Amino acid sequence: MISYLSTRGEAPELSFADALLTGLATDGGLYCPASVPALPDLDPDAPYAEIAAEVMWPFVEGSIERSAFDAIVADAYGPSVFRHEDVVPLVQIEPNNFLLDLALGPTLAFKDVALQLVGRLLDHELDRRGETVTVLGATSGDTGSAAIDALKGRSNVKIAILHPAGRVSEVQRRQMTTIDAPNVANIAIDGNFDDCQDLVKAAFNDPALRAEFGLAAVNSINWARVMAQVVYYVVASLRLTKGEQPVSFAVPTGNFGNVLAGWYAKRMGVPIEQLIVASNRNDVLTRFFETGALTAETVVASLSPSMDIQVSSNFERLLWEASGRDGVAVAELLARFRTDGHAQVDPAWVDAIKAEFVGGRLDDDGTLVEIERVRNESGVLIEPHTAVGVHVGRALRADDDVPLVTLATAHPAKFPDAVEQAVGERPDLPDFLSHILTAEELLDYAPNDLQAVATRLRAL
Ligand SMILES: *Cc1c(COP(=O)(O)O)cnc(C)c1O
Repeated sequence: MISYLSTRGEAPELSFADALLTGLATDGGLYCPASVPALPDLDPDAPYAEIAAEVMWPFVEGSIERSAFDAIVADAYGPSVFRHEDVVPLVQIEPNNFLLDLALGPTLAFKDVALQLVGRLLDHELDRRGETVTVLGATSGDTGSAAIDALKGRSNVKIAILHPAGRVSEVQRRQMTTIDAPNVANIAIDGNFDDCQDLVKAAFNDPALRAEFGLAAVNSINWARVMAQVVYYVVASLRLTKGEQPVSFAVPTGNFGNVLAGWYAKRMGVPIEQLIVASNRNDVLTRFFETGALTAETVVASLSPSMDIQVSSNFERLLWEASGRDGVAVAELLARFRTDGHAQVDPAWVDAIKAEFVGGRLDDDGTLVEIERVRNESGVLIEPHTAVGVHVGRALRADDDVPLVTLATAHPAKFPDAVEQAVGERPDLPDFLSHILTAEELLDYAPNDLQAVATRLRAL
């Protein structure tokens, strides 16, 4: 049975189920598996859900019955949730160059792949304990809709998502506000995304509110999300080479959760040649690979908004492993980064990280050009986050004989303005979502004030 350790070394060691419910460790760290299992023998042609259950089982063993786990995985990756029998199909765009389409879930972004599973696991564990929680989160777009869809109608979970009023796109807002379920609250805050995040942090830091609502989080620092993402690296390798030949991956990156899952897949034994980290103008990671230092800059808005991040929270997990699991040193480094906005990382850790990852960036003009190029040369329409991945992947791949897979993290219809700007054609929402454009919206407005948010939570 695998237990979970905090990256800052002070919090108690937990089981999978406790780490799932806890989210952030009490010492401010992130939970990571104490050991990484080797891949079991896998049938390269088995259905996605079967491979998923096999790959994830060692991480959850001891916290859930095998039969219950298999049923939850089959349900999360079933045909009523993902619109393709392969769940995450490969699409060839050039010789030896592929997209892995992760955007065929209910909200058209890759976050569905992990959250559809995590929502079900959370509900199951709460049922077992006879407890209920309120998931509280802030969103600038994709996370909120994926979390609401994964948790709508579940009996042991309520969910409240704060978004900055007037500052998310109409499609993103409607994906959240047209879900009619009694356990869902959308709260539009009179403020920006940082204000929303500060309100969530303030709520979690308020012991009385935490206890009153049983607050929980499903943001990307939750280990279960990283675990669920490991699976599609394994599946891509099996489908392309039966898991026998090396493959490289290019990953559009914000919080570093998606590409970190690739690193875990490699440690489990997937033959991965390169892990290529692709950033937009908010390029703290690319600068880290160049300088060996973490340096915060202000976030600038880009055409790939889900990567507009300057502190990639999951990078802490990698720092912890690179340090030889020295929680004290990691805590000290991150404290320096927080106070000074700058921290030089130990050269030995930098070398360890640079042996496993390369990183590059692409600005908005380049993103538009790349969407157009891929459309013209391969006939495939991609959206801005994916375009950043494709471009940086081609620029940094070391060997054209090794298949390159770029993770396609969103559907073009989720970012119609940028796609139209690039190719003069506006992608339509898939039929199953077209109703959201006319459906009634359910949302509350609140001032940027914690007590006002608490009042809305009480009404849930
Ligand atoms: C969240 C998101 C990303 C960034 O993923 P991380 O795991 O935070 O690195 C990239 N693209 C899209 C479309 C996203 O929604």
